[in-house]
Amino acid sequence: MKVIVAENAGFCFGVKRAVKIALDASKRGKVYTLGALIHNPPMVQQMRKKGVIAVNDFEGLDNERVIIPSHGISPLVLKKIKPKIIIDATCPFVKNAREEAVKLSKGCDQLIIVGDKKHPEIRGILPFLKSNVIVVKDASEVPNKSFGYCGIIAQTTMSETIFQEVALKVSNRSKSLKIVNTICDATRKRQSSTLKLLKNVDVMIVIGGHNSANTCRLLELCLRNKKLAFQIEDETELKKKWFKNCKKVGITAGASTPPWMIKRIREKILSLD
Ligand code: SF4
Repeated sequence: MKVIVAENAGFCFGVKRAVKIALDASKRGKVYTLGALIHNPPMVQQMRKKGVIAVNDFEGLDNERVIIPSHGISPLVLKKIKPKIIIDATCPFVKNAREEAVKLSKGCDQLIIVGDKKHPEIRGILPFLKSNVIVVKDASEVPNKSFGYCGIIAQTTMSETIFQEVALKVSNRSKSLKIVNTICDATRKRQSSTLKLLKNVDVMIVIGGHNSANTCRLLELCLRNKKLAFQIEDETELKKKWFKNCKKVGITAGASTPPWMIKRIREKILSLD
């Protein structure tokens, strides 16, 4: 059995940067992140051992050092942690999407964000905007009405296909439309590498946190293209039956999947042959 890893898979620029910031800070003692620093439970667990602790709120952590995760946090939450020492690991692409959203929301009648309204990145953007905003997860959620001057942006980890589908639907209903594609380069590359690889293999293994938006998009991409695919966080989730009569296995991985996990899973698949 041959196992091929996608050309672009695993850690992206923003995640590498956040991990480095957190590990450097942890050399001077414990640091705390609100929720996971990155959406990869095995990596979060490993970092905990090094003193990077994920918490659900900052209650009782006065005067501790607090890290803003790569996907950012809401300014309303940020206000509450003002007296503490804040280390900002927000990815520059997330900040850019936020700035574009603010500009568009000021200049148009209706701003549409293509993303998940519950995701921390979107929750971090919304408080900066005027009230003329709707968040849609795909084209089916675009309201059935006409728009005046409309703007569209995307969550940085959104699927290119879904973003295009929403833009097309809105363009047919708006007087004027400004599209700012804020999907980050890392997401785009992981999606195109996955698409390229899935055409040449029998089954795809998608590695990454079940809470990772960009990893879930990679699984969706495989399934939309009618490829047998499974998403796992670590090697214990692999099942031998997935590889029955299989000659080529493809591996892709979300932007918060560490390289050591990709290696470990690749070796485990080979050992099942
Ligand atoms: S996926 Fe994109 S936006 Fe998210 S951390 Fe990586 S580079 Fe930044």
